[in-house]
Amino acid sequence: MRLVVDLNRCQGYAQCAFLAPDVFAMHGDEALLYDPHAEEERREDVARAVAACPVQAIVVDADDRDETPRAVREATGER
Ligand code: SF4
Repeated sequence: MRLVVDLNRCQGYAQCAFLAPDVFAMHGDEALLYDPHAEEERREDVARAVAACPVQAIVVDADDRDETPRAVREATGER
């Protein structure tokens, strides 16, 4: 599965790292590291993390389409 975290939204609450530790990890107090190509077996954990994120920063591309989701463009665009 492909996923992206909109780092402009992410506030480092770490709910995702708690619920899906194989996919998300906090680096220091605020920086979030994550696997943008998480294994399919992690989908349930990721779904919990998506639901728990207080700012809806996690977007999962359920269809695995080739199009780049809008959130990816936003997250990777210039800041
Ligand atoms: S739960 Fe949401 S706000 Fe918190 S670290 Fe994860 S993506 Fe960021």
